[in-house]
Amino acid sequence: MTISRERLRWLEGLIREDKMIPFYKWSGWRKKRQEALERDNYECQECKREGKYSRAQNVHHLKEVKDRPDLALTLDNLESVCIQCHNKIHDKRLKKDKRKPFVIEERW
Ligand SMILES: [Zn+2]
Ligand SMILES: [Zn+2]
Repeated sequence: MTISRERLRWLEGLIREDKMIPFYKWSGWRKKRQEALERDNYECQECKREGKYSRAQNVHHLKEVKDRPDLALTLDNLESVCIQCHNKIHDKRLKKDKRKPFVIEERW
C-alpha cells in the first residue's frame, strides 16, 4: 500500500511546518508500524545483523520521511530497531549533516 495523494499533501504540509507529531499519531502510520514490527518478529534488525538479539521498540524509516514522504508507509522502507540502535542511527546522521537535532518521533 502506498500513501494516497491527499495524505501525501497533508504530510508534506507537516514537513514544511516541521510538525511531525500528527503523522506519528495517525492511525495509518500506527497500523503500518505494527505491520513492520510483526514482519520483523519484534526483533531489532540492527542487532540481528551483528548476531545479537534485542527486542525492537521503534520503527525506523530508512529513507527519512522528510526526504521521501512518499515512502512513509512503504514497508520496505521500514525497519524495526531497539532504542539504542535507533539513537545510534540518528546520531550518525546528525554528524553527517549538520541539521538541527533530530527528535525521535518514531517512538510513537
Ligand atoms: Zn538494536
Ligand atoms: Zn529513525
